[in-house]
Amino acid sequence: MKRVAQLSIVLLLILAVVAASGCTSSKGRKLVKEGYLTIGTEAEFAPFEVRLGDGSFYGFDIALGEAIAKELGLKVDYIDTDFAGIILSLNSGKFDIAMSAMTITEERKKSINFSDPYFDTGLSLAVPANSPVQKLDDLDGKIIGVQLGTTGDLYASSLKNVREIKRYPHAPDAFLDMKNGKVDAVINDDVVSKPIVAKDPNSFKIISGLLTIEQYGIAVPKDNEALLQKINAALKKIKEDGTYDNIYDQYIIHYSAE
Ligand code: GLN
Repeated sequence: MKRVAQLSIVLLLILAVVAASGCTSSKGRKLVKEGYLTIGTEAEFAPFEVRLGDGSFYGFDIALGEAIAKELGLKVDYIDTDFAGIILSLNSGKFDIAMSAMTITEERKKSINFSDPYFDTGLSLAVPANSPVQKLDDLDGKIIGVQLGTTGDLYASSLKNVREIKRYPHAPDAFLDMKNGKVDAVINDDVVSKPIVAKDPNSFKIISGLLTIEQYGIAVPKDNEALLQKINAALKKIKEDGTYDNIYDQYIIHYSAE
């Protein structure tokens, strides 16, 4: 009897170790879907992430995510999610990482880790083509459109004398309302606003000069240090071997400085 008891304790211990290693690797989480790097993204932010007519994902982040997954020996899977809740969704385990033209900020670093920076940009101010607005001070008493939960939202929220801030789930909605005369200015990532304005120069213009300097990073849950390191190594390789430059040339149009 005694031996049976001892044996079952040993068996239980073995089971416990196996179960624990199945849940997490030594310093990380299990992948959401085995064999895949599952990436959360808010896919209405061209040229970084959009859905094509057939529902497939397309853009700079999408191509970069694919290249990173390849380096990790994984396939890639994208989940469309809203930007305002992207950190919560990431931390609750809906995806392995988030790639969504996400600016590295100290505030966000409190709840997630960021990869090394992979893109430099900043906010700019877009206004109707016939707008008298020329500088920030001219926004006094005006209605500003932003995308909810973004750095543009934060920036607009810090302006003292604006009349109202309208917050939209997706950046293009803010531009649509500006076209319809409901918004006087849109504060948004310059690299995203530029193509929108270039497509419709009769409706919009950008006030030259960036309002902020920002860098995008890939968001990784804090308890997945192992994945963060692999992603940084993959990013480094992709930057060194020319893959990054190819992706840049394919998705980012260079607009000459005004
Ligand atoms: N770069 C901005 C931010 O991180 C906007 C991101 C986005 O809308 N996808 O807040």
